[in-house]
Amino acid sequence: MKSDPLTSRRDFLRMGTTALAGAAFISSGACSPQPKEASQKARKLIYRALGRTGLRLPIVSMGSVYAINLVRTALDKGIVYIHTSSGYSERNHERLLGEVFLGRPRDSFVIATSPDLPYTPMKGSDRSSDIGKDVDPAQILESIEGSLRRLRLDYVDIYYLGSIGNREVTLHEPYMKAYEKLKKDGKTRFVGVVTHENEPAVIRAAAESGFWDVVLTAYNFRQSHREEVRAAIRRAAQAGLGVVAMKTQAGVYWDRTRTKKINMKAALKWVLRDKNVHTSIPAFSNYKEMEEDLSIMEDLTLTPKEKRDLELGDELGLSGCYCQQCGRCLAQCPAGMDIPTLMRSYMYAFGHQQPKKARDTLRSWTSTEIACTTCGKCDVDCSLGFDVRSRALDIARILEVPEEFLE
Ligand code: SF4
Ligand code: SF4
Repeated sequence: MKSDPLTSRRDFLRMGTTALAGAAFISSGACSPQPKEASQKARKLIYRALGRTGLRLPIVSMGSVYAINLVRTALDKGIVYIHTSSGYSERNHERLLGEVFLGRPRDSFVIATSPDLPYTPMKGSDRSSDIGKDVDPAQILESIEGSLRRLRLDYVDIYYLGSIGNREVTLHEPYMKAYEKLKKDGKTRFVGVVTHENEPAVIRAAAESGFWDVVLTAYNFRQSHREEVRAAIRRAAQAGLGVVAMKTQAGVYWDRTRTKKINMKAALKWVLRDKNVHTSIPAFSNYKEMEEDLSIMEDLTLTPKEKRDLELGDELGLSGCYCQQCGRCLAQCPAGMDIPTLMRSYMYAFGHQQPKKARDTLRSWTSTEIACTTCGKCDVDCSLGFDVRSRALDIARILEVPEEFLE
């Protein structure tokens, strides 16, 4: 794989909507108009049962969309499941959804959220940071109260524990007890786990637990371990778990300068052709992309051209924006940077064009300066050929951007 350096400030500014000055990190979803024709057309929706929860959902759902009108339109178009987290946009994403839900029948949407728990560095591990086992379960119990207040609801449908990168945390009893209590108290109907690294181990553990109802996992055509993820998903579905897929479009762009977009429909079809995936939260951030994602329900067949499109990155030697979260880089950084989290944040900002989510991700790991900004030399050898230092420098700038530019 070729690396694709974007080192100069000039290059950085050339990236249009992600330049720091002025409209810096403004996402396209906030201002793009809704296409009239598409809004008037009735759309075919495919529904699948979310495992033993009994919920029947369209196979296309919605992740962290920050433009309120886009969220409203998505619900009006038949999307039912909305995913958020109390950490998104410093709790403002839940507030935004609370406004959207006002006046809507409670059974017309399914809302999933999670507590904002600090990442714990996984010392001596080849794994990135995750929440570890040291979080006080009382934090989980308290956190849902804030979420319910902000969402203006009495209960959520799914309360997730995330992000998890290993089996032990998935099966950690104190966490399961806290989630059990929330279920018993009627604060949540179902409980789930979120994973975007070491996914197969987490999914298998969730399936074995007999406790978790749903798993939300990264799953896409670019994952080097996709067959292992596929097998784990099959096992989870057979055990009755609901399966929700995220990172379905593998970082959205093949290149850092965003000149080559991944065929979004093809990528989403690739995921949803697997019937063990019950719904997905694709990376749409504007009306056009939402329509594109919804349109895949007309026909899930991958055309020969779409299949070829999914191989474009390999053909052109482009590394894309999706970090495999494989952890190979971790032991290589003398400063102990959580490179997978940095790269995930990079993907949200530059691929998904979700600067707020990018910053939330960074802050969940660190609020201090990122060591890469003062590090003179980087010998990190990424399995995808990422130029880790230049990407880290690009994303580190997001911590300096004033809130009002992160729309
Ligand atoms: S930056 Fe590269 S080596 Fe590190 S986790 Fe991502 S893909 Fe793996
Ligand atoms: S630039 Fe330096 S601190 Fe950053 S990842 Fe590379 S070696 Fe680590």
